[in-house]
Amino acid sequence: MGSSEISVVRNYIGGSFVDGKSESWFDVLEPSTGKLFAKAVLSGKEDVDSAVIAAKGALPGWSSLEMKERARWLDMIADGLEEVFEEIAELESRDTGKPISLARSVDASRSVANFRFFAGLLLEQETEFFQMEDATNYVVNKPVGVGALITPWNLPLYLLSWKVAPAIGMGNTVVCKPSELTPMTADLLMRVIDGVGLPPGVINLVHGEGAGAGEPLVSHPDVDLVSFTGGTSTGEKVAASAAPMFKKISLELGGKNASIVFADCNMESTVEGVVRSGFLNQGQVCLCGSRILVEDGIYDEFERRFVESVEKMTIGDPLDESSDLGALISPEHLEKVRSYIDLAKEEGGTILTGGTPCLPSRFDGGNWISPTVIGGLEYDSRCATEEIFGPVVSLHRFDSEEEAIEIANCTRYGLAGSVWTEDLEKGKRVSERIDSGMIWINTWLHRDLRVPFGGVKDSGVGREGGRWSLGFFSEAMNICVKQG
Ligand code: NDP
Repeated sequence: MGSSEISVVRNYIGGSFVDGKSESWFDVLEPSTGKLFAKAVLSGKEDVDSAVIAAKGALPGWSSLEMKERARWLDMIADGLEEVFEEIAELESRDTGKPISLARSVDASRSVANFRFFAGLLLEQETEFFQMEDATNYVVNKPVGVGALITPWNLPLYLLSWKVAPAIGMGNTVVCKPSELTPMTADLLMRVIDGVGLPPGVINLVHGEGAGAGEPLVSHPDVDLVSFTGGTSTGEKVAASAAPMFKKISLELGGKNASIVFADCNMESTVEGVVRSGFLNQGQVCLCGSRILVEDGIYDEFERRFVESVEKMTIGDPLDESSDLGALISPEHLEKVRSYIDLAKEEGGTILTGGTPCLPSRFDGGNWISPTVIGGLEYDSRCATEEIFGPVVSLHRFDSEEEAIEIANCTRYGLAGSVWTEDLEKGKRVSERIDSGMIWINTWLHRDLRVPFGGVKDSGVGREGGRWSLGFFSEAMNICVKQG
């Protein structure tokens, strides 16, 4: 697709690309320029109903396939995605504003890997037996039914494929609702599954807004399961809609993660790692370390080296291979991020670096802000405890393990974090006392797809990843057979 063409993005229902019932469309804008990029179907309740009917209709046939047959389909989808690898990277970069190199190394790679990984994991599944003196129990993992898969804009295909692969792998059929801000690679995935000939109705997709399409999907009586990734306040609404019908639900929500830097860390690799964890994808990753806690003895040196390193990052055209940072997702999000920088000043913080970048005039309409580092904030200030989800981090001092743990735990969130020290015993001791779903020691975003992924407190409910995904996307049924 040439960069000046406007694409048209339709729903995918029952194996066909279709317009919306109301024939309404919404504009998809390129974050780096603010220019019109595509038009997509603005779905409503009727479109959701059609998609759920298609998913329900496909369920008996799909769920009756053997696990190894469904694994073969996942492998075929992975092959199909591999063939359009470069297109995934380019679309994701244009649609989200992220650097193309990142879209390639993270988004495109993980989308292929998610299908490949779950295909392999399905083949490893074995029936569990529990022997008693006089009886044998065995566990049958049945599909839950029709799944609603709702995803955000920051890692569009990466997160969608993370849900679709285990969901259909375990025999469910699904209706996907990607963020209205980033519909392009979800559409590409539908083109890929259409190309490989996946049975119609197994994967359906409606585009549109949270209120118009997401809400009717979550509350639909024929939807049995909801897997949601997004903000904590949206998660509250999703949980409230799903609860009265006792739907199976998984919520992967916001974060405000601490990076704890001890005086005995390897300074060079720690600065590099903590800068990456603060600013990858313009800080728009739920796992980003946006509160950096530094032990007193090295605080001044760390601050100097950290700011120097942040200032060396190249911010520019997302499609330029040399860009380290791109644009933020939308004007509204840029405004939110700016308002937190203003709040930081009101709360007594000092802006150590950051401001509005000077970019060529063709980016005038885009959503740009340079990476921002704030010092001098109280650790329990709003800016240091609320999720900003942008390229803004705050630095804080601590002088003991106890204090580091207290600061790390003083938010409503509990998703992830990192600890940087050469003393691995201390690293593990501190990690285990942090209220969080995941901690990295001397690294960040180092992912093994077999491990549990998810948060505590307001960062979510449930775990996905590896066998936890297979467990969530199935119902374990025990059958007890009396002997003799
Ligand atoms: P939102 O919560 O705004 O949206 C997430 C998805 O929910 C979108 O598809 C949205 O649609 C949809 N939605 C909105 N309202 C409803 C509703 N009432 N019912 C059903 N669906 C609805 O999140 P963002 O897209 O802004 O993503 C950023 C957030 O996601 C951050 O808080 C981040 O921390 C979190 N996140 C968490 C991750 C994790 O694994 N824990 C990973 C990645 C991000 P639309 O956009 O069309 O309105």
